[in-house]
Parts: sequence; C-alpha cells; structure tokens
Amino acid sequence: MDKKMNKESHIIIVSNRLPLILKKNKDGTIEVGKGAGGLVTAMAPVLKNRNGTWIGWPGYVQEEEIEDSMLPAIQAAASGYSVKPVMLNPEEVKNYYEGFSNSIIWPLFHDFTDKCIFLTEYWTSYQKVNKKFASAVYQNADDLDFIWVHDYQLILVGAKLRKMHLRNTLGFFLHIPFPPFDTFARCPWRFELLSAMLDYDLIGFHTIQNKRNFIRCVKKIIQDVKIDKKLESNKAVSELSLGNRKVRIGVFPISIDYNEFFLKAWDSKVYKRSKQMRKNADTKIILGVDRLDYTKGLPEKLIAFKRFLNRYPEFLKKVQFIQLVVPSRREITAYADLKLRIEQLVGEINGMFGTDDWLPVQYMFRTLDRDELISLYRACDIGFIAPLKDGMNLVAKEYCACNIDERGVLILSEFAGAAQQFHQDAILVNPYDIEGMAKAIYRAFNMPLEERNQRMRNLRENVKNKDVFWWLNSFLRAAIEKDLSSFPQVDEYYLGKPISDSGR
Ligand code: UDP
Repeated sequence: MDKKMNKESHIIIVSNRLPLILKKNKDGTIEVGKGAGGLVTAMAPVLKNRNGTWIGWPGYVQEEEIEDSMLPAIQAAASGYSVKPVMLNPEEVKNYYEGFSNSIIWPLFHDFTDKCIFLTEYWTSYQKVNKKFASAVYQNADDLDFIWVHDYQLILVGAKLRKMHLRNTLGFFLHIPFPPFDTFARCPWRFELLSAMLDYDLIGFHTIQNKRNFIRCVKKIIQDVKIDKKLESNKAVSELSLGNRKVRIGVFPISIDYNEFFLKAWDSKVYKRSKQMRKNADTKIILGVDRLDYTKGLPEKLIAFKRFLNRYPEFLKKVQFIQLVVPSRREITAYADLKLRIEQLVGEINGMFGTDDWLPVQYMFRTLDRDELISLYRACDIGFIAPLKDGMNLVAKEYCACNIDERGVLILSEFAGAAQQFHQDAILVNPYDIEGMAKAIYRAFNMPLEERNQRMRNLRENVKNKDVFWWLNSFLRAAIEKDLSSFPQVDEYYLGKPISDSGR
C-alpha cells in the first residue's frame, strides 16, 4: 500500500446515502433529520476521533446544486464530523440509482438475473455519478487520509480516483453478496466492474463464499493477474499481486451495536409494550421483519405458514404470524408487483383460516421506530427470517440481541450471510423448500426449553463478541497491518464448523 494510516490521517467515508435525511416540507422548507442504523453508530466515534468526513447523497432530488443556506443544518445533524453532500438530479436518480444500482447490480449480485435490465444509459449514468462522488472525495482528501468507499452503488469511485492520480489508501466494502462466476459473467460491464474493484487496496466481503466467488471471477475475467494458492484458503484476509501492486481481500461479517439493542430490550417501556403486543398469553408469535424486496422470500414465507396451518391443525387459533414489511423502492415495478402478491397471500390465508377472534397473519406495511421494533423482537417466540439471498441480514442479529430471556428460536435461511455464523444454533431452512419451512416452524414450537436456552445463548454470545465495532476495527486493521499472519482463519468467526460451500 502506498500510504498507511497514522495519527494525522483522517478517515473519509463515502456511501450512496449520507447518515442524515433531507425532507422537503409542503411549504418548501427543508428539514434535516439524523440517520440511524448500525453503520452510522459504528462510524460516528471513528469519524469524530479522526476528524473525519462523510460524503454521500442526502436522499433529496434536486436539479440545482444544494443551497448554501442548507449546509449549516446538514452539518449540525452530523455533529462531530464533516458532511459533504453530493446532490443527484432526477435523471441520475433514475439511471444511476434506480437503474444501474437497483435494476442491474442488486438483482445480479443476488442471483436474480431475470430481473436485470441491462441498459447502456444506466451504465453511462453510473460512470458519471461515480465520477461525481470521486470528485467530491478528491476535493476533500489530504495526502494521508484513508478513504473507505461503501457498497455496490459506488464500485467505480476508487478507479475514478486513481485516474485523478490520487495515491491514498483506498478501502471498499461490499454490503451485498458477490455472485458466482456464471452469474457475474452475464453482466455486459463485467470487466470494467471487476478491474475497478482491483483499484482498491482492500476489498471487504461478508462471507468466505463471497470472497471465493470474487477470486474466481478475477481469475477468469482479468487475465494478467497472479493469484497465490494461499489466497484461496480460509484466511480472513489475504493478498493478491497485480504487477507491483498488492490488493488485500478480506472477510468481515458486518454486525450490530449489540449493547444498544440489549440495553433497550431491558427497558421497562419496551417490556410493557411487548406484553401488550402479546394480546393473548397463550398465542405463540412468529415474527418476520423485512424490507419490501424480492430477495427477502416474503411470498415463500407466507406460503410456508399456510402449509404449516394445513399440516398441523392443532395450532389453529394458537399461533399468529406478525409480518412487518418496510416500504422500499416502490418506484421499481418489480417491487410494486411484489407488494400486491404479498397482500393477496395475506388476504388468502386470513380468509381461509381466520375467525371472529383470531387473525392468523398480522401484516404491517410501514417503518417502526426503534422501541416498537425491539418490543416486537421481545414479544415473539420465533424469529422467521428466510431470504432467498441476503448479504448478511441484520434483523437476525437484532432479534438475538433482544431475546434477553433466551427462550426464542431463530429460523434462518441458509442463503443469508448470517447463516455462515449461526448455522449451528439457528434452525436453518432452504426458503425454496416450503414443506421444509413448515416443518421447521413445527420443530421450533416443539423444541424443549433447555435446548432453546442453549441455542439462543450461543447465538447471543456470537453477536456480542462480533459486534459492529469488532467489524469496523477488523476492517481498519486489515487496511494498515503490515503482517497479515495475525488474522485468523475465517472459521473463528463462526459457531462451530462453517457450513459447506455448495450452492452458497
Ligand atoms: N428496520 C428499521 N425499522 C423497521 C424495520 C427494520 O429501522 O421498521 C431496520 C432493522 O433494524 C435493520 C434494517 O432495517 O437494522 C434491515 O437490515 P437488514 O440487514 O436485515 O436488511 P436490508 O434492509 O439491509 O436488506
């Protein structure tokens, strides 16, 4: 690496969205709110300590550049570090964000190739907007700053910065899965995307399988690269040689601020609210919390619940499935269609089984605040998380952190990144196997208390030890450490032996 981080170096975070929300009120005034989430919580102290800067889009569409009058309010919302907004106009939102990011990379990297719309205008806009983000970084970076770019919307930023002759250490973390070669190879811009990734000094993935998929793609698509055999090992961080440059590739499973969730779960207001949610103490609750997305396996979960009720009629009137769906990307047709499908299934199940005093599926389509969400986590008996493919799935980790009485069971898809860590103590399911999921619900309800306690304790221990601060430190350490031999085998991240690679 050209330059290492030291005490004087600052950190620059670059992500599509800034950790704050800009909203235009009806009277035309702009309101600035604070963003939430694990990434913001973890980054904020590092940014404050290192006089850092966060560069990103504030989520507000505007033709013109941001008015200077708005900058103080934006800055105040971040408190403790600098924020540099990159504005997007409607064309850029359509082609770069909804287009290339969410109608090409998102479906492709989640193995939904049938949902990809490979339009050249999307690619043109993606390049242009990535260059715009790179220019914002260039204007704000000093020689020794460490620049950390986040996620699939901004893959090209590193390469654009190299074109501008910026020699700083560049890190990149992919928050979604990296697909197998056969899937990735379908992308018309596969060479450009992959070679751009190799312009970073450190690339981070959630799982060993993502890392292996990436290395295989590099081998097949980028011809003049030498790959050390050791790279394909289970080492958490390894190095790849490209001429006289080295690129580090690592596995860093993202997590949550365990303490925040754990402490909130003890709150007496949360406890009271969770009691209210359990209207009838004898009714068992299954909980699903997912963003509206075709990767989350929502119809499959509902169909599995219907199969469960058909197969085990002794549970009629004794169980309720609460499914929270968080609104997302409704401007994209595939998402609007999915919403209709979910609502149709909910109606069908409630129509078929519901009675005067029992609603089998309680469906909510909205965003809950943190306390409400934690109360729900506390109220339920089973956390049912069954994505068809997911980078990590933080809901699974939040559910475990909040399960303070350790009586709950986690049913988890084997295709969520979290399954690599949790496979021994969650009940793993294949979300395409409806019968298997119905049986998993039955098994969870019949699991002896002692076994539930033991499994939940193990899960919670893992989330506690490998929280979001551990994730952040591991990534930063991989960027600066001279000797990579101190990094463990990835197996140490897991509970027991990792699940086999087949199909993941
Ligand atoms: N979440 C939220 N409000 C809600 C429901 C969920 O803020 O009403 C949060 C939840 O706490 C979690 C995130 O949304 O941190 C979802 O993250 P996950 O990794 O599970 O899925 P993603 O939406 O990133 O695909």
